[in-house]
Amino acid sequence: MTDPYREETPDGWSDRVAQTWEVEDVTDGLRLFGDCPTCRHPSETRVVVIRTAPGARPGLDLTRPEPVLVVCECAEEHEGRPAGRTGCGRAAYLELVTDQP
Ligand SMILES: [Zn+2]
Ligand SMILES: [Zn+2]
Repeated sequence: MTDPYREETPDGWSDRVAQTWEVEDVTDGLRLFGDCPTCRHPSETRVVVIRTAPGARPGLDLTRPEPVLVVCECAEEHEGRPAGRTGCGRAAYLELVTDQP
């Protein structure tokens, strides 16, 4: 039995993702992956990190956390899902803070 498709941000969804998902460096950015807190299916989100040349964008504050939209994109079926979509519909913005100086 699976959760019906619903586009929403449940309470604590983003906290759970922040605590349980892993972050991996890939060539063009970051890959966030883990189990969706709602449907518990494995999901992943790719974040393209724009690396600017020094001085190319004056005023761009790279030390600020970037809000990243994380959407459940599991491969399982969810009842009531519109055609062409994946996942269970749950999504949230996460503040992405990189460890690198
Ligand atoms: Zn799912
Ligand atoms: Zn899900």
